[in-house]
Amino acid sequence: MTTQTGGRPQSLDAVIVGAGFAGLYQLHLLRDRLGLKARVLETGDGVGGTWYWNRYPGARCDSESHSYRYFFSRELHESWDYSERYPGQEEIRAYLNHVADTLALRPDIQLSTRVTAAAWDEAARRWTVTTEAGERFSCRWLITAVGCLSSANVPAIPGLEDFRGEWHHTGRWPHEGVDFAGKRVGQVGTGSTGIQAVPVIAETAQTLTVFQRTANYSVPARNGPLNEQRKQEWRDNFEEVRKLVRSTPNAHPFRISTDKAMDQDAETRRARYEKAWEVGGLRFRAVFHDLLLSKAANDTAAEFLKGKIREIVKDPETAAVLSDIDHPYAAKRPPIDTNYFDTFNKDHVDVVDVRADPIRRIVPEGIELESGKVHELDVIVFATGFDAMTGPLLSIDFQGADGRRLKDDWAAGPKTWVGVAIPGYPNLFTVTGPGSPSVLANMIVPIEQHVEWIADCIETMEREGVDRIEATPAAAEAWMSHVNDAANATLLPQAGHSWYLGANVPGKPRVFMPYAGGMVRFRQICDAVAARGYEGFAMGAPADPAAPPPPVLAELTGPDAPPLPGAPAGAKTSLIEAPGV
Ligand code: FAD
Ligand code: NAP
Repeated sequence: MTTQTGGRPQSLDAVIVGAGFAGLYQLHLLRDRLGLKARVLETGDGVGGTWYWNRYPGARCDSESHSYRYFFSRELHESWDYSERYPGQEEIRAYLNHVADTLALRPDIQLSTRVTAAAWDEAARRWTVTTEAGERFSCRWLITAVGCLSSANVPAIPGLEDFRGEWHHTGRWPHEGVDFAGKRVGQVGTGSTGIQAVPVIAETAQTLTVFQRTANYSVPARNGPLNEQRKQEWRDNFEEVRKLVRSTPNAHPFRISTDKAMDQDAETRRARYEKAWEVGGLRFRAVFHDLLLSKAANDTAAEFLKGKIREIVKDPETAAVLSDIDHPYAAKRPPIDTNYFDTFNKDHVDVVDVRADPIRRIVPEGIELESGKVHELDVIVFATGFDAMTGPLLSIDFQGADGRRLKDDWAAGPKTWVGVAIPGYPNLFTVTGPGSPSVLANMIVPIEQHVEWIADCIETMEREGVDRIEATPAAAEAWMSHVNDAANATLLPQAGHSWYLGANVPGKPRVFMPYAGGMVRFRQICDAVAARGYEGFAMGAPADPAAPPPPVLAELTGPDAPPLPGAPAGAKTSLIEAPGV
């Protein structure tokens, strides 16, 4: 593959940044359906995105395997079986490599290539994309498929550089693995990642000390191998499963109950929670309709889950630290686990409450707390999450129309029109950008929806000879205001330390970034935007700063909004019950 480091940039129709689920499908559509000369640029030296980077012990999906796959092709669907209810990292990475091979995508994917800058040339109506190595590409269409959770957040704890042992962030895990045998391991972080890693690290570490700042809920995943009958059922019912995931608000393959927690008596409620605990996984969240809408309802689930921690963890002091949870259930992304709480019954595993006694610094021997206590360690694992949603976008120096900079435009928080377009940045599309349902959903469904919507838009522009399309400022203002309202209608903003709000990264503006209005409503809005000739966009000329907000938004989200399409008729009950494992 030839690339250019000096002189004229290499000319392409489209550049796609990122080779995860989003980038691979975007390349397929632009190249194979639209016939564009497109190229994916990817930092990693392999495809897979999240599943290329996150190789930490215990890494696996919390979407059920029959829903965590592409739905755009029956042939692709039939060519791959996952082996477990929740596939592990290696299996998902293998699936994405299989997709890249089946669709012959590799010739148009350039690996080990980090995009550092992109500048809009108004006269040429093209983007110039620059890589870390100094290569330059010129393109009409620029699509970021950079992921919501791809920018690792290593906390700036003083002294890290002096640590005598080794340290790793879970999202940048060494490909050769880490040998914990005979080592004193410290893990910082108890989010979904940390909760998956603890039981597996504990299997071989000499000691494991978990530094917990915020205690967390977790529900057993009840993972296990899928039996042959289930695999066959997923193969045979491709169409039904596809319809199902497209009909639920969070794109998972199960319905949210229409019952309200507070309409049940205490005994019935408890029985429902017990059953959901046995079924396991994210289905627990769907047991009542109002768990994320009413604090009183949520409290009943929270008390049930805290009670489970106290039942499982034998030492009362440890149980008290692990169950001292300060936010509503599912207001942060709810983890699911395999033996997380039970692992604290092992003699060599401890939890340290670093809210009570915060980490002061890292010293050559380990982690020192404010009290002066030093925990001596050989390995530190940072399960400390990501600079989510905006981090990967802002690590690229975007220079839009009139020389404006994205980092300035988003200094007070991100602004997009329906998560895919940014005023001032023509011909740039963001797959699952801020303002998309993205991380509040089973992500394959929003990814496919965005990628298809973007391809349709580019196809229309190319067909009609429109060389410039840009979201209007009013559309983005109105959308982010709606995103905020949708979050405020739920308990989600009540977890003040959540990464949904950017609160996990010091100095980041506190803005609720994903769209909580549900995937079905979101799809309806995006379809209407396109059907009305790309409302909220200016085509062929720069957006008018005085343009009014697009009426589509008020019409589809206001009091007279049409009802959402219901669940598909006749979906087989067996398809939406817990998968047999
Ligand atoms: P990614 O997979 O993040 O891919 C983005 C790619 O862009 C990366 O490879 C990155 O290297 C590349 N990139 C970024 N910036 C640049 C740049 N400047 N230049 C070049 N390349 C760049 N979602 C679910 O729905 N269900 C789950 O069960 C689930 N489990 C998860 C588990 C973990 C551990 C994590 C971290 C996330 C999980 N997610 C889950 C979210 C997951 O990120 C998405 O499901 C999905 O994989 C995202 O795909 P993507 O292509 O949008 O982004
Ligand atoms: P996360 O949810 O942001 O959790 C990070 C953890 O690190 C939190 O416990 C946080 O504490 C702690 N932390 C951060 N900085 C710290 C510091 N300076 N000192 C002490 N503690 C610190 O990150 P994550 O667990 O990697 O998960 C991110 C997202 O990825 C998930 O929410 C989910 O969407 C996805 N994911 C999914 C799965 C899955 O099961 N499929 C698995 C992993 C990840 P505070 O809470 O106090 O900030």
